[in-house]
Amino acid sequence: MSKWTFTKGLHEVGNGVWAYLQPDGSWGWSNAGVIVDGDQSLLVDTLFDLKLTGEMLDDMRRSIPATRQIDVLVNTHADGDHTFGNQLVEGARIITSQGTADEFSVIQPAVWQNLADNAEQFGAAGAFIRECFRPFNFSDVVLTPPTETFSGHKEIRVGDKIVELIEVGPAHSLGDTLIHVPADGVVYTGDILFNGGTPIAWYGPVHRWVRACDVLLDLDAEVIVAGHGPIATKGDVRRMKQYLVDITGEARRFYDAGVAWDEAVREINLGAYADWDDAERVAVTLQTLYDDFSVGDQRPVRDKMPYFAVMKAMREKLGKPPVHAHLYGTCSCGKDH
Ligand SMILES: [Zn+2]
Repeated sequence: MSKWTFTKGLHEVGNGVWAYLQPDGSWGWSNAGVIVDGDQSLLVDTLFDLKLTGEMLDDMRRSIPATRQIDVLVNTHADGDHTFGNQLVEGARIITSQGTADEFSVIQPAVWQNLADNAEQFGAAGAFIRECFRPFNFSDVVLTPPTETFSGHKEIRVGDKIVELIEVGPAHSLGDTLIHVPADGVVYTGDILFNGGTPIAWYGPVHRWVRACDVLLDLDAEVIVAGHGPIATKGDVRRMKQYLVDITGEARRFYDAGVAWDEAVREINLGAYADWDDAERVAVTLQTLYDDFSVGDQRPVRDKMPYFAVMKAMREKLGKPPVHAHLYGTCSCGKDH
């Protein structure tokens, strides 16, 4: 258990080091952060749309004077829930790994907005996309890519504070990056850590994600700001790493028995992992594992659309309420949101 509360907004987790949290951490509700020293500032990620990102930046400016002008923005990876607000951070250097830069234009806001607006044309996939993205608005998002890239490691100074960028992708995405603040024992993980929810391996290989967990565990950092969910401890990292190891074992059994991917999705017994939020994401991770086993690094770039139909079916089979149901008063899970 973490000593931090999981409430929306800024939480100071070090000396001039902040997390910005968005409960409940489910689809699209990502975390961000900011690191300041003197009059310098580094923003970790933006949010899924302009309204959310604007609110976050206002909140920062009110309580942290050095954020009035953000000097550097680092995106932990290219997914829209960590980048679509980039256009609001005017004048900042935008730094990402080369892998993230390569993936940037693959994720077009207009495409997602069109899918959400015209969901009925896309069957079950459309229905689930609308369900996942209903709280967000991408219509005014202008994709704002990095201005600088790096590969491997990069060190940046924010005032006198050293910030390390550690590229651990491809894993969850093509260019996942950890952002480590050694002096404060804080690390921002992007979506290398989903805390309290189910990880989703859009890209893989999954064994690299397991290794990324080890990199995280080896860091001298006890405060871990996950890409989604509450502020984490190393115990939370171990727990999610074990999930990836266990699902890899299950996938291998199916694969070796000649069971097709979609059949494996229907048959897999998730055990206690079925209770994790957004457990349906295992469908995507299973396909990625099949690619790991069969073609390794020569993996195809897969269209994300069909996954949404498979995930919707799986979510229903697991008896979960619709995504974001608590926001719309249609949640029947019995929890007090
Ligand atoms: Zn995310």
